[in-house]
Amino acid sequence: MEVEAAKCECCGFTEECTPAYIAAVRAEYLGRWVCGLCAEAVGDEIRREGTITTAEALDRHVAFARAPRSRRAPAEDDLVAAVARLLRRCLDSPPASPAPPPQSRKVAAGPGCPDGADA
Ligand SMILES: [Zn+2]
Repeated sequence: MEVEAAKCECCGFTEECTPAYIAAVRAEYLGRWVCGLCAEAVGDEIRREGTITTAEALDRHVAFARAPRSRRAPAEDDLVAAVARLLRRCLDSPPASPAPPPQSRKVAAGPGCPDGADA
């Protein structure tokens, strides 16, 4: 299959993609190409803010991804967040058996919330 190297505008990650996929990503992100991880981060930004455009979310993420390491380590944070998201996704849809019994969750969430006592 024919592939081209596409470089992420946010983190600089280079991925081998089909021209059709590259064109689809560029169309969605205003002519820029972003890797899957950054595309997800931009999507999260849009979902979290609600009112910002794709362009604004992209700019924010680019600024975040290129922020000096003295402030924080974005690549590391992104990786940790991505792994945490993956894990959470797995925990949200457990494969049936090793899930905790429902009552143990109720016990954990029930007490400690005096405002809900009269509900
Ligand atoms: Zn990227």
